[in-house]
Amino acid sequence: MPDFAKPLRPSDALKFGLSIGLSCGALDGVLAIRSAGAMIDRAGILAVSLVVDAAAFAMAADVVGASDGEHGEGRSSQPNILLISIDTLRPDHLSAYGYSRDTSPVLQRLAREGVLFQEAYSHSTWTLPAHASILTGLNPLAHGVLTREDRLQGYHETLAERLNEEGYETVAWVGTKRWGFVGADYGFASGFTRFHHYPHPNRFWSGILARNIDALLLEYLYRGVGNAHAQVGEVLRWLDVGRTDPFFAFVHFYDVHSKSAILPYEAPEPFRDVFCEGALDDFDFCEGALCASDRLLEIARGRKSALGKEEIEIARCLYDGGVAFMDSELGRLFTGLKARGLYDNTIIVVTSDHGEAFFEHERPLHTTLHEEITRIPMIIRVPGALEGKRASGVVRQSDIAPTLLALIGSRPLEGAQGKSLVDVLTQWNETLDFGVLAVDDNQGGSLIRKGPYVLILHPSFNALDGKPTQELYDVSSDPAQRHNRAVAEPLVVAGLIQRMGNQHQRSLALQKRLAAGETHEKVEVSDEARAGLRALGYIQDEDE
Ligand SMILES: [Zn+2]
Repeated sequence: MPDFAKPLRPSDALKFGLSIGLSCGALDGVLAIRSAGAMIDRAGILAVSLVVDAAAFAMAADVVGASDGEHGEGRSSQPNILLISIDTLRPDHLSAYGYSRDTSPVLQRLAREGVLFQEAYSHSTWTLPAHASILTGLNPLAHGVLTREDRLQGYHETLAERLNEEGYETVAWVGTKRWGFVGADYGFASGFTRFHHYPHPNRFWSGILARNIDALLLEYLYRGVGNAHAQVGEVLRWLDVGRTDPFFAFVHFYDVHSKSAILPYEAPEPFRDVFCEGALDDFDFCEGALCASDRLLEIARGRKSALGKEEIEIARCLYDGGVAFMDSELGRLFTGLKARGLYDNTIIVVTSDHGEAFFEHERPLHTTLHEEITRIPMIIRVPGALEGKRASGVVRQSDIAPTLLALIGSRPLEGAQGKSLVDVLTQWNETLDFGVLAVDDNQGGSLIRKGPYVLILHPSFNALDGKPTQELYDVSSDPAQRHNRAVAEPLVVAGLIQRMGNQHQRSLALQKRLAAGETHEKVEVSDEARAGLRALGYIQDEDE
């Protein structure tokens, strides 16, 4: 193991990887006495049957049981990397981040074994640009993935491409179809040797079926299958029969995200109403024919009145049930890594693309740049590095790729704006405070966080309904962002606007340099994609 009292340099990182690799020899002995068995369960099979892209793995699952000796052959000295993105997961609803409900015992344990970043931010309010930032280390204006027609361009180097170059097997399971925002059509498969689309049956199937089949049958389908359960099953099967080491596994889960069929958030039993204390009895979350997330979308667009207090609380308890379900599936995944002797040689990152609002600023879902949406969880566990540190200071999702590459001794991605957090992972006193820039071109807004200040600019959106176009908060004294100080502190606002402008200019210049004259390719939005995106609220009636 390296001396983590000193900063980990790339050469040290290589040695660190080597020492881990050597220790795996001992682990192989443990592995050899583990009985290999098929890990098939009914829910997994049912979900797989819904997903054409995963069919190959469902077949493979029948022949699980590769000998442990085969796993050890050709094992590299580098650690494996597991990057988990839980879509729409806000950190203040995790007990790991101090939430009063016990939603995340597994992540609490993971945080005790690694470093929890208390002030991690997204660069965007929605899935597509945020994931592009995670995988490129770039701000949205630099990677240029800003609208649903933008795809990740081939000239941007991604984490998967680099890890592939470094000899990693690179595999992804994303909770969407090809045309979804983390799907292959948007360029996310680049660099992955295997890229599995794993659409959520709740949203992509039940949402459409809801209008056509009996509600009781629909409810049965809902409760029988949690998509994460099937996804984790696939990852575990792949660990047994498909993988080569070292591997980079990227797993994106959509289970916490809002849903459009019956209730706005819904987890399988027993998690569904575990925090609702009977409040769901005789409750349907509808206003006329508008139900679930369809209703929330109409509220977000200002076409329907806000939820009442009781309904907001029900939305929260349902969401929290989804978080607890997700946490339990992570537990299954980590237990699976341990059972295969892989846990001690795997770097684990758990994060999200953005949070979710429950009317803290008058809106539901994720449509504004307030803290409940821009703050994300970030827990990084590196075997042999610090355990139990809670890091303060602002870090960004664009720092994830640079950190992982620094840990294995690889150079930064081309143009990467994110920075390595290795010093924070390895030194108790080290704190980095980068500040953050986020944009939301859906609504025409930008955010900058520097020191205790968050400035949100709304060039067009809020101006329409008479709201201030600038919001300034001191989140050290006002974390809930209740008191807009923009009028009281014009000099702070002016300074932050200037800083934001400079950063935007730098990002645009970087985008131009990285493109080197190549055309920015757009995504063809198919009819199927259009229908699916409409169901999610990303295409509004006036767009059609
Ligand atoms: Zn998302």
